[in-house]
Amino acid sequence: MSRLDTPLIIALDYSNLDQALAMADRLDPTRCRVKVGKELFTRSGPQVLEALHARGFEVFLDLKFHDIPNTVAGAVEAAADHGVWMVNVHAGGGRRMMEAARERLEKRRLATHLIAVTVLTSMAREDLAEVGVDDEPLSQVERLAVLSQLSGMDGVVCSAQEAAALRTVCGDVFLKVTPGIRPNASHGDDQRRTLTPAHAREAGSTHLVIGRPVTQASDPMMALAAIEQEICL
Ligand code: C5P
Repeated sequence: MSRLDTPLIIALDYSNLDQALAMADRLDPTRCRVKVGKELFTRSGPQVLEALHARGFEVFLDLKFHDIPNTVAGAVEAAADHGVWMVNVHAGGGRRMMEAARERLEKRRLATHLIAVTVLTSMAREDLAEVGVDDEPLSQVERLAVLSQLSGMDGVVCSAQEAAALRTVCGDVFLKVTPGIRPNASHGDDQRRTLTPAHAREAGSTHLVIGRPVTQASDPMMALAAIEQEICL
């Protein structure tokens, strides 16, 4: 089932398989993809991927691999063998790590999208300084996005606020997968620097990662439909 033009990726941030699948069963796999992160995957294992694929979902496996090149290449290959649509690594692992992951997918002719995390949005200038990076977060994001592109990544995870700058630096085709999305109507949680779905698309986000505004709505598909309408799908 590969019919998806939708940019919407719903984050299944649950601590167990049953809760994640209960939410998946309320979503339409022809109108969104889903994201599985570290907690759910560590608790449920590859079983969650099989169950979501059986329901017709394409899956972004958000494990942010960061290790020596051979280890990351093996982990990315394992994710692709599970049939996931997208997987990610930390750009901070460097060119050789990213190239090794890309080469492994190519050698096996695996079509999984491979993207990189540049700077975690939880990191401010002073956090970067503590790890030896004396620069503004946006400069470091741009530097790592360019390195990711040169190393064969299909795109990056970035904040929607960074998407416009990255479109200038890396072009339109380079994927910009952006969390921190809040539709006009939702408010009051721990996300701070948010953008609406429409503003994120205008800024150049190619894919929107959306969690609670959909998963905590009384009618998740109605919330998703409102987002579709906002971005004119
Ligand atoms: O519920 P909410 O829409 O805030 O969920 C956003 C998802 O995107 C979560 O899975 C969160 O871990 C992830 N994420 C984020 N900010 C980042 C990177 C990932 O919110 N910088």
